[in-house]
Amino acid sequence: MEDNAYPALTTIPWDHSPITVYIDNVNVPEHYSPTYKEQVESAMTYWENGGNGHLAYEPEFRLVDSESEADIYIMWVENLEKDAGVENGVAGFARPYEINGKYVRVDIVLEVGNYEGYAWKQYGDANMRELAKHELGHALGLGHSNDRRDIMYPTYDQKDNIDPLLVERTRPFIYAAVIVSAITVSLSVINWLRYRGKRRSIEDKFLGGKHGRS
Ligand SMILES: [Zn+2]
Repeated sequence: MEDNAYPALTTIPWDHSPITVYIDNVNVPEHYSPTYKEQVESAMTYWENGGNGHLAYEPEFRLVDSESEADIYIMWVENLEKDAGVENGVAGFARPYEINGKYVRVDIVLEVGNYEGYAWKQYGDANMRELAKHELGHALGLGHSNDRRDIMYPTYDQKDNIDPLLVERTRPFIYAAVIVSAITVSLSVINWLRYRGKRRSIEDKFLGGKHGRS
């Protein structure tokens, strides 16, 4: 398959620069580590410095203080399987919203750990950094690589691009969702206008009641 083994989802997905990023370290799950934010920043620097060499442009990021200014919104949940109903082994996903071939917003959801049997295992900083690099790669328009050494290779812990709403609705479509959303999610302008309310319900699902443990 030669070089076709590395399909970009969208060659130049952003129509402006810098790309603004909001890292939500306020609404965090129980096992969030304050060091995770640095790992995301490190992943941003990785891509600004050329990343894996497969981008057709040089991205520049700017951190912003509120999600309303953000092109890319990054949040954590305790566990994707529990909080979003996705299959075990999924550690993160990136969900692009696209209008006329350009991204208008990408939501990235990362989990902070996973169950191994009954034992909770929290992700370390290195793991979080690699996960953030991978998901940011999607947010910059890259698809998956067939090269095991490439950051965009979908390892077991990095199966992603899952639409939690879709998964919620009908579990048998989990695998279909992985494939379909890997082709990028296109929303009409009308859906975009509705999107804020929809996202609110996603957040409620992730961040509401389920995390109250004390
Ligand atoms: Zn991926």
